[in-house]
Parts: sequence; C-alpha cells; structure tokens
Amino acid sequence: MTTLFTNIRIFDGTPNATRLGQVLVDGDKIARVAYAPETIDAPEATVVDGQGGTLMPGLVDGHTHLQLGSSVESMSKPGNHPTEVLALTAAHCGRVMLDHGFTAAYSGGSPSAAAEIAVKAAFDKGTMAGPRLVTSSMEKLPGGTPGLIFKFPDRDTRPSDPAAVAGFVEEMAASGLQTVKFLLNGVSAMDPGTNLSEQFHEDEIMAAGEAARRCGVSLTAHCYTAASIKVAIKAGFKVLYHCNYADDEALDAIEAAKDSLYIGLAPGIEEADRDRAPKFGFMASEGQVAEQISAVEHKKAVGRELRKRGVRSVIGGDYGFPWNPIGMNARDLELFVEWFGYSPAETLSCATMVGGELMGMPIGQIKEGYLADLLLVAGDPTENISLLRDKGNLKAIMKGGAFHKAPAAAAVA
Ligand SMILES: [Zn+2]
Repeated sequence: MTTLFTNIRIFDGTPNATRLGQVLVDGDKIARVAYAPETIDAPEATVVDGQGGTLMPGLVDGHTHLQLGSSVESMSKPGNHPTEVLALTAAHCGRVMLDHGFTAAYSGGSPSAAAEIAVKAAFDKGTMAGPRLVTSSMEKLPGGTPGLIFKFPDRDTRPSDPAAVAGFVEEMAASGLQTVKFLLNGVSAMDPGTNLSEQFHEDEIMAAGEAARRCGVSLTAHCYTAASIKVAIKAGFKVLYHCNYADDEALDAIEAAKDSLYIGLAPGIEEADRDRAPKFGFMASEGQVAEQISAVEHKKAVGRELRKRGVRSVIGGDYGFPWNPIGMNARDLELFVEWFGYSPAETLSCATMVGGELMGMPIGQIKEGYLADLLLVAGDPTENISLLRDKGNLKAIMKGGAFHKAPAAAAVA
C-alpha cells in the first residue's frame, strides 16, 4: 500500500522551520520526500490532501511508565498490582499515548518486567494499539524487593554489595528487557525528603555498568544530585533523568559525554508535583511544597544550561500518576519552551529526531528509508507548539505505514 501526502508543510525532525512539500509512504517506510516546487508522481498511491497542515514525525516520549496506570481517560492508583492488572493498564495507557501522537516510548521502569515485555510484543504485533517501546526493568534497591518503591533508606544504612547489584542487571537482561533502571537518589513524592539521598554506593554503580556492558543492556538513572550524575556518567549510563541539582562539574561531565548520553529532565512531573500532587495527598506538607518549588527553579537553570551546551535532551515527564496522567505528555513540549528557552522547532526536534536516536530505530525524522511514523497536524506546531496538546488537532496518526487514526474521508482521494 502506498500513500502520498500532498498540500502539506513538512517538519522533518531537524530543528528547522517547516517547508512545503510532499511525502510518499510505501509499505512501512517513507519512500520519497519532495520539497516544493518538486512534486512526486505516484499514480497508484492513495492521496491524502493535508489541507495545508503539517506532516511531522510521530512524537517520542523518552521517559515513560505505562504501568503507573493513570491516563486522561481513567485514573488508577500506582502500585505493585498483580501482573495481569499491570499488563492491562499498560496496554490501555499505550493506546492513549498513540491517540495523542506518541508513536514511540522509551520506558523509564516498570513494576512488572513480564507485563512490560508482553505489552511491547502486543504493540509490535499490532494486536493492541500502542507505541514502539524500549522496555525497562523493575526498579529495585539493594536488598529490597523489586517493584514500585515507597521507602528510600539511604545507602549509609547498609554495607555496599556490588555483586548483588551486578546480579540484578544480569537477571533483568536474562528476562529479555532492553534497559535497566536505577533510582540513584530517593523520590520525595514517595518518601518525603529523600530526593537528595544517595541510594547506591559508587562501587555498586560501577559494577552495574560493567554488568550492563557484559549483558548488552543500557542503563537509565533517576538522579537529582551532582554526585549521582557524575558516578552514573563514569559507569557508562546511557540516560539520566531529572538532574535538578547538577553543579558546574556535573554539567561539564554531561557535556563531555554528550555523544553517548541522553538527558531527560522530565519537567512535566516537576510541575505536576508542585501544582497538582498536593490535591491527591502527595507532596502536600509545607516542607514538600517548598522543596518542590526549589527543585523546579534548579531544573530551569540546568535545562537552559544543557540547551546552550548542545546536550541531547529528550522529552518525557514521568506521566502516569493521577496528577500527571498519560495523555498529557505533550505538556513537556510547552515546558521546554517556557522553562528551558528552547524554540518550538528545537523542542520538536528533541521530541522526534533526538528521541528516535535514543530509541535506536530509524524513526523521528521524515527521511527516505525511515519508518513511516507520522502525524498530520492542523496548523504549524513550529509556530504554535501548544497545538500538540489537543489530540483533536491530529488529523491523522500513522505508525509503520498504517493509520492508527485515518484522515477524514473528504481529504482522501
Ligand atoms: Zn520515572
């Protein structure tokens, strides 16, 4: 099956303005891209008249937790639920992401590895609607049980155990997961006052890095402190999330590693924790509110600095909590502009091209030979990035050359 998009502006995934053109999709790939005045001659193709809208790569969320379970359609309490419950909620959340234009997601951890692998298989096979997924492990502290963690005791309450940490990486790799997630610092939303507490000893983090290289998996860190950022980089972690309290030395280390590193600042969760979590009984004490206000201010400064230094940043803000439900993911785009000073086109490039590089797949660009994960947007999101907040503006959603959301019949010839 071939589809020809005409009467469109093209945002190709690079941080540049849109241009008039045409795009031909053949099978699951982008076969040709032509910019005006050039046109594509494809008499056999189904023609989609874009009506002056923008054709862009599908969005990539670089920090996704499908199993947290809450979407804009249905709230659910995050927890270590039975595997079948987690699999069903994750499948639901995956469909909601795709409905909102997210055709790929890099997982930031999951309570159930089995559910994570099962939903990825269903999305890949097309038996369930959802994004392309890079899977991630359960989260676990040394000595603790895997799954969602609600207590962060600080590493100094126990002796270092690098062999156990390396063993966890090996076990996750053997179960078929692609990445392993480490909570190097605590989580104040779960356990008040722990954002800055260190959860792993340095030799444990280094042992995780060695085990990951042996097993062929990538490592992802939840980190706030400068110390954990520096050790994670030294250990060869591929993705660092949050990074609120990066100091000059940590920023230099990030910049020096920028060809092998991705940063996911996750502004969405920070805003939600500050503004909406208290209504749900999280982050509600005076101390927690003050902590969150300061966390946001630090993150803004770090984000602006990373942009200046040309570091690869991905969008994705821990969506899936009741106060931050999946389906709101595009709020991160606005926050990249408002908080970090990215232009809309730069932000969209983080959300497409850079995200595609992180996924390790030929996606995130409108480029011949790339997979046809495409959005047809009413209007130009490089002029108004907020267009992507409203799924009503997505006139068509294509994943791998097949429409998840088909354009209106009137636009098809
Ligand atoms: Zn997360």
